[in-house]
Parts: sequence; C-alpha cells; structure tokens
Amino acid sequence: MTRPVAAPRLDATAGPLLAVRQLRIQHRLPRAHPFARPRYLRAVDELNFNLHAGETLALVGESGSGKSTLARALLGVQPVSSGSIRFDGHELVGLDRRGWQPLRRQIQMVFQDPQGSLDPRMRVAQIVAEPLVYLCPELDAAERRHRVEQTLERVGLGPEMLECYPRQLSGGQCQRVGIARALVCGPRLLICDEAVAALDAVTQAQVLQLLREIQMQTGMAMLFITHDLAIARQISDRVLVMYYGRLMEQAPTRTLFAAPRHPYTRALLASVPGVDPAQRAALLRPGAAPDTSVPSTGCLFAARCPMADEQCLRRVPPVHRLRDGSAVACHYIAEAWVPPTKAA
Ligand code: SF4
Repeated sequence: MTRPVAAPRLDATAGPLLAVRQLRIQHRLPRAHPFARPRYLRAVDELNFNLHAGETLALVGESGSGKSTLARALLGVQPVSSGSIRFDGHELVGLDRRGWQPLRRQIQMVFQDPQGSLDPRMRVAQIVAEPLVYLCPELDAAERRHRVEQTLERVGLGPEMLECYPRQLSGGQCQRVGIARALVCGPRLLICDEAVAALDAVTQAQVLQLLREIQMQTGMAMLFITHDLAIARQISDRVLVMYYGRLMEQAPTRTLFAAPRHPYTRALLASVPGVDPAQRAALLRPGAAPDTSVPSTGCLFAARCPMADEQCLRRVPPVHRLRDGSAVACHYIAEAWVPPTKAA
C-alpha cells in the first residue's frame, strides 16, 4: 500500500525554469519526385508554456500529438524550426555542443521501455555511473562510486544491485535503475516520456510515488509525458493537452478534470474504459486526422468536433488566457460541462 505524497511547494513569485515560446518543429517529408517542392509536417506548432521549479506538468494527447518530438527538442536532439526554449534564462534553440555541455546534466530523461533502455552488457553500477563520466568529469572514481550508491539508495535499490545485469532485474527494478541514471547528475528538469507505461499497476504507483518524493526532496521540475489520463491526474500540478502539435488546453490538474473547457479534452476524458458509449460518441465525431503538412486555415480538431461550425473551418481559434492561469484554444469555451457517466 503506497502513501499519498503531498505536493511540492511551488514558489509562484519565481520566474519559470523552462519557458517555451511560439515553438515550431517540422519534419521534412520525402519528395514525390526529384523536382517536387519540399514539404514539411508540423509536429509541434506555435506552442507556448512555462514550467516552474518543483512543478509537474503532464503533457497528454493521442499518438502523433507531438509530445515525444517536444521532449527530444528540450534535450537538444531534435532540430527546432522556429521559436524559443529558455531554460533558467539560457536560450537552448541554436545552442552548439559546447553551449550544451554545462546544461546537459541539468536536463535529464527517463525513457519508456525500462529493460530496452538499459545496455544489457553493462552492470547496474556502470549504467548509473555513465552520465557522471561524461557530464561530471570533475569527480574521481571513488566520488562517482559514492554518488552511484547514494542515488541507487534514493530510488530504493540496495548495494546488492550494483553488480547485477538488467536481465537479472524485474521491470520495476529496471525502471528504478533508469530513474537513478537520470538523477545521478542532480538534474533540475526531469523529462519522463511514458516512463511508467510498461509497468504493472502496483509498480506504476510505486514509481510515481518515488518520483514525487524525489521531487519533494530536490525541487526539480518534471515534464511528464503520458497518454494515460489517470496517471496525469495522479502526478501533475498542471496538464497541457496537445492535438497534432498544437495546444488545445492547459489548466491546473484539478480544474481540467473537474471542468474541461475544450471539446477535445472532453472527448479525451470520455475515452477511458467504462464511459457510456453514447456519451463518448456525442463528444467525438468519426472525422479524419488533420493534414499538418499544409498550413491550417481553421481549427485542427474541426473534423472530429461535434461543436464545429463555419467559423471553426475558416479561422484558427486563438488561445484564450483565463484568469485561473488556464489557456484554451477554441472559439467557444463557455459551454457547460457534464461529466461522462459510467455505462450501466
Ligand atoms: S474551435 Fe470549433 S472545432 Fe475547434 S474545438 Fe472549438 S468548437 Fe470545436
């Protein structure tokens, strides 16, 4: 049985640790023939958000919504077409290898596949020590060993694990090793890309609790990428909903689940098992996915939105900033919300 963990205290007066502004990331599409004009897919488009120290932002949306592309851009391994990513005041877009060097240890990532993300030929001690070798060269071997042992203890793994290979560990233990590897350099921003998706429910709860406890102790910020709304609700302070690269809604977690304002968020909340199929169908039309290789002239969600009208097809909806800090990209956001009910 896991204990609930209190939310970390946020300093609302401090500036954001991470500030993303008008971010656009495009993937080049293969040419139909050698003389064809190049075409690009907009994986992320005009995205804006902040993330503060000690805060967890959940990034949710279906496959293809641009969540993982964004994560790679934040790590500096995905070229950005335009816009800005500022981390602790440093502009990351356009930064060269040397510029990234002091920042790499501050932004780390936990990957989805616990077993697959660990090198099967390396022992746990080597896996966790590896980032220290490259990112903290000032440490000698004894200091590295000490840091590795400390970090493994923090994630609940004893010294008997040091000489194990990943194949000798359970999925949950492998994910703890992955978390230790991400934490060993003392990051200020931890990006978790579907970090608990491959784990069973009990291990998921343990790993989420562990991450929250570590956040309480260290004050690090977390960007939690997930398609699982229950996990987003459990771990985050705020939720950002994306659809084909664009922000649909961003709100404090409690607000978003109690009173979602965007039609896509409502459809997402109704997509969980057990919701009355008739209600689900009323919230999502069976429309086609938008073509993001051409500039959109209207709302990306219009083909599937039950509220869509002429204006939605003709005008890209502006992002409305609301008094409670929420943001909603819809022409019509004042509709009353009735929570979906369970099927009889
Ligand atoms: S702008 Fe129109 S189509 Fe888009 S979500 Fe709002 S109501 Fe639906």
